[in-house]
Amino acid sequence: MPLLETTITGILLDIEGTTTHMDFVHNVLFPYARVHVHAFLAEHLSDEGVRADLASLREEYAAGERQGIRQPALRDDSREEQLASIVSYIHWLMDLDRKSTPLKSIQARVWQRGYLTGELRSWLFSDVPVALERWNKQKRDIRIFSSGSVLAQKLLFANTEAGDLTKLIGGYFDTEIGAKGDTESYRRIETTFGRPASEIIFISDMTAELDAARSAGMQTLLCLRPGNRPQQIGAGHQTIRSFDELFSQ
Ligand SMILES: [Mg+2]
Repeated sequence: MPLLETTITGILLDIEGTTTHMDFVHNVLFPYARVHVHAFLAEHLSDEGVRADLASLREEYAAGERQGIRQPALRDDSREEQLASIVSYIHWLMDLDRKSTPLKSIQARVWQRGYLTGELRSWLFSDVPVALERWNKQKRDIRIFSSGSVLAQKLLFANTEAGDLTKLIGGYFDTEIGAKGDTESYRRIETTFGRPASEIIFISDMTAELDAARSAGMQTLLCLRPGNRPQQIGAGHQTIRSFDELFSQ
């Protein structure tokens, strides 16, 4: 491929639609969190991290109230009602696919339980583990940028069919660093990489994200995977269908 492969020392990867089939997120992870969040919260309501997430969630709820948004009411009458109403609110946020940081954090905690019990095992496209090994051997710095929380990302790469791949990955970024469509996020990521943006390639299934990365000076690749939403091809981003095509030796 015409990329100047030798000049690329850093690789930034999206997850959903790039390393992982969209179905895993939408048909496995999200339904798992939805079904198990009630039991999880009932068991962990007094955990410090869970309490912090719920406090943030209540702040978002209060902000919604101030904006006059119609949302499921939170109740404080009894522990059971409190729990039931927070679960209804969480389900409602999930239905809206709200990019809420505490929601993402709670989801990741529920998934962590699923991975620990062995009920969950993450999916990667078959070329991905091999490519991560190869790029790592080539001393390329591989990092992840996904709107799922850093905990969710680490769990995903720690619990794959090919085993724990986290040793191959140098860093994880979620929306705490900024939105994926925002050029500033990629500038901040460049700083943490400690290498110039021109040496970093961002691979994603979404052209809007690639456009933002390119504005920050990064190289880009549009990843075409089965199940992805159609993207405008020819927006100046080269395409790949498999990581086998990239840095093959
Ligand atoms: Mg994606």
